[in-house]
Amino acid sequence: MTFALDPSPAPAPAGIKAVCLDLDETLLDVEHASRSALRELVGTDRAWPVWQRITDQHYARYVTDEIGFDAMCVERTKAFFAAFGESLDDAEAACRESLRMAAMQRSWRLFDDVRPCLDWLAATGLRLAVVTNAPGGYQRKKISAVGLAADFDAVVVSGEVGVAKPDPRIFRTACERLGLRPDEVAHVGDRLGTDARGASRAGLHGIWLNRHREECESAGVPAITDLDELPELLVADLVLGTAMEPDRLTPAR
Ligand SMILES: [Mg+2]
Repeated sequence: MTFALDPSPAPAPAGIKAVCLDLDETLLDVEHASRSALRELVGTDRAWPVWQRITDQHYARYVTDEIGFDAMCVERTKAFFAAFGESLDDAEAACRESLRMAAMQRSWRLFDDVRPCLDWLAATGLRLAVVTNAPGGYQRKKISAVGLAADFDAVVVSGEVGVAKPDPRIFRTACERLGLRPDEVAHVGDRLGTDARGASRAGLHGIWLNRHREECESAGVPAITDLDELPELLVADLVLGTAMEPDRLTPAR
């Protein structure tokens, strides 16, 4: 389903005054960049599922403050090569991670549905923010690299505020920086628990961006499969309706 972007957008949806968005895999196509970097590092991205599994394990340790970001990246690289029988010392792992990171940064790009969606949201008068988990400098560099530096009224990064999604405090920090109550703010992100449910628990309108159409019997929050669907969800449920109904827009299986 694609929402026809009206060249003369309607006024901002009643009740909602701002939309927060996650960065990685919501606005920024990290998988594309990460696969490109893997190809540069080992000549192929056939090991992508292994990289993804190891990344999920190690990123969880970073988000829970068990390990710093740079150390996590080196540990992840060691674990990846160990999975294929190669043992790296810290210096070699750091060197390969540095090459991988440089390759990744050359491949950062937005998903195709981002620019039209941000333009529509801004044209309706909604304020915009990013709420993202990672070091501040790293995320701000990404935002600038893909040309989004002027798009947001607030950029809230876990590495700067000291708490990470799904902790309610990071969502409330975003609301405070926007000068709004949580119930006046929607948050959209690709992680059901970390983004959509986390935001809902903090009192915002959590929306799950289910780009990969993952199976989920009961998301408990409204879901969309691309950002083209976001304007319709906001208008239909927040102007014509009284509230977003959980699961109403969960993709059909
Ligand atoms: Mg994400």
